[in-house]
Amino acid sequence: MTQDDAAATSPVVGIDLGTTNSVVAGWVDGKVQVFAEDGTALVPSVVGIAPDGRLLVGQAAMNQLVAFPERTIASVKRRMGQAEMLTLADRTHTPQEVSAIILRTLKERAERALGCPVTRAVITVPAFFDELQRSATREAGELAGLTVERIINEPTAASLVYHAGSDERRQIMVYDLGGGTFDVSIVRSEGGVVEVLASKGDTSLGGDDFDAQLARHVADQFLEQHGVDLMDDSRTRWRLLTACERAKRELSTATTARIAEEFIATVGEREVSLDVEIDRHDYEKLIADLVDQTVSCADDALRDSGLTLAQIDELILVGGSTRTPLVQERLRAEYAREPQWSVDPDVAVALGAATQAASIAGRQVGPVLVDVATHTLGVAAVEGEGYFDEELVFVPILRRNSPLPARYEDDFSTRHDGQEKVQICIYQGESPTLDENIELGEFFLEGLNASDGCDGRIVVRFELSVDGTLAVTAIERRTGISRKLAINNALSEMKRQSKTTAAERLADLEGFATTEIVEIEEAEVPPNATRQQKTVSRAQQMLPTLGEEDAADVQRLLTQIDEAKASGDTAALDGVVAELDDLLFYIAG
Ligand code: AMP
Repeated sequence: MTQDDAAATSPVVGIDLGTTNSVVAGWVDGKVQVFAEDGTALVPSVVGIAPDGRLLVGQAAMNQLVAFPERTIASVKRRMGQAEMLTLADRTHTPQEVSAIILRTLKERAERALGCPVTRAVITVPAFFDELQRSATREAGELAGLTVERIINEPTAASLVYHAGSDERRQIMVYDLGGGTFDVSIVRSEGGVVEVLASKGDTSLGGDDFDAQLARHVADQFLEQHGVDLMDDSRTRWRLLTACERAKRELSTATTARIAEEFIATVGEREVSLDVEIDRHDYEKLIADLVDQTVSCADDALRDSGLTLAQIDELILVGGSTRTPLVQERLRAEYAREPQWSVDPDVAVALGAATQAASIAGRQVGPVLVDVATHTLGVAAVEGEGYFDEELVFVPILRRNSPLPARYEDDFSTRHDGQEKVQICIYQGESPTLDENIELGEFFLEGLNASDGCDGRIVVRFELSVDGTLAVTAIERRTGISRKLAINNALSEMKRQSKTTAAERLADLEGFATTEIVEIEEAEVPPNATRQQKTVSRAQQMLPTLGEEDAADVQRLLTQIDEAKASGDTAALDGVVAELDDLLFYIAG
């Protein structure tokens, strides 16, 4: 089989899972292309259940958003990584389940275009997404039946489209303003390598907020005139927001737009219609503060990158909201550059993801991707001497903007001699104050050598892979006792709910056939065994030498250990390990 044959049998697609719209692209006829249907590449990121119980995705769901807001979910990307359940008609779903439904639709679209099954994907996320949000995105992909080969940052993907294959050194600001999220990155493309120097963003700022500002303005006028607040009723609010979104787009090319909605409210006995004209200048005043926020974020990213403005060669615009004239004007004025958007800003990210996907599938497409850590990662530690002085502080180990893959470690002391266990609490964030950062997970390193002193006893190692999977290992230096936690798996809220439950909830949703779900595995690999591992490995070594009855007893306890581990029941686990220990002692005796 040639390299090309191998790649052809297993296509990898690129997916831009957007707040407003999603796009899937892949390798066709020697180049990356978006998979469009009915004349459009954009699939609205909307999921609904029709009154007759049918599952609706994309435009069909979008069409019922105004009529049945309670049966429809939009902008789910803003909820990714959160524990809350979303209501969809009479059902509830996690954000990743709703995203899985959108991803499944994109997967099917790609399969129709390529004429073969598609099971592998590169999915993009805003650079500012934290570990929880990335992890939830990965899980959504798995629930949709996709192996998520890489999670890459949206601006990084966009820069890949502009500079795939070029050897020339370019330093680029990628400004990405979509429907619900904003990201800005400073990237360097050189010799076929794209490196993200810095990323900043706001996961809840985008074109939706422009719509909301305009809607509030129109609703205030209506309230003054008719005494009814159009934002109070969910159906009316959606009608108004949809009309404002349309007007906003018109204002990108025209200087005025009309917002007209027939019989939008009942005032006394009368049905009243809405009919107002909006001037571009007035609209721009409404959104000026939001645009300023994006510019100050861009300034921060530039500062973080260590480059000066003069060193920026190019300013690339990505995301539908960059069509807003005020955005382009502000950027032109602030950065003295003509913004580039020669690749359609709606599909640039998906094309970049497909470029990366194609290179994973073995195609010769250009740059290798070097990404950076988007957040600082570290642990909680006690600082100060004595009871009253002690304070929990954040100790950074792997700094923001470290090139990936990254591996950093630091030494820690125990609080007193002979301490037998330590708790490792993992945090993500930029603040020296622990509480202002996000806790990602925790674990204990137990069975430490009681005869050791405190100083520099424990090494904590952070390893962050190119797709943002974090592994944290704590090691007792002298004995080598260690424990490792893979954050990508162990972190997620979804783990608490279990993937199986998620799959079951999707399975009974009409129109969504689930594929096999792989159970999440928690990594815990102590090379120098704990009591449990020693006992298990001794039992396994003894098994072939035992008589039938003893072997059956040992096997029964080994199975019980597996079950206790799988259910996370540590009390039961300790009990069975002790029983096995006793049994081995008795047999050996
Ligand atoms: P994206 O998340 O990149 O798909 O961008 C979607 C956002 O772009 C939505 O808020 C749209 O309302 C907005 N958008 C699309 N076209 C335009 C336009 N011509 N002018 C201003 N905003 C637009």
